Amino acid sequence: ALKITEECINCDVCEPECPNNAIYQGDEIYEIDPDKCTECVGHYDEPQCQQVCPVDCIIVDPEHQETKEQLMQKFLKLTGGN
Ligand code: SF4
Ligand code: SF4
Repeated sequence: ALKITEECINCDVCEPECPNNAIYQGDEIYEIDPDKCTECVGHYDEPQCQQVCPVDCIIVDPEHQETKEQLMQKFLKLTGGN
């Protein structure tokens, strides 16, 4: 899963781009629900939020590092595809 760092300027462009509705406005900055973020695996070749973020404050979450296979499993679970 990816993670939004405190450099986030709350511009709101990433939230509507997420195919998994994993991004939401937190108390101070936007946040990503690690249970819903597949790093866009299953939907796109590149993480869409990273593509649009104007300040490049979205990184791989050090506490939720996953393989492509694990991300694909999450995608299948979220979409009921297996
Ligand atoms: Fe959503 Fe993709 Fe960003 Fe994860 S990487 S938060 S799935 S847009
Ligand atoms: Fe924050 Fe980047 Fe999302 Fe804008 S695009 S709300 S700066 S994480």
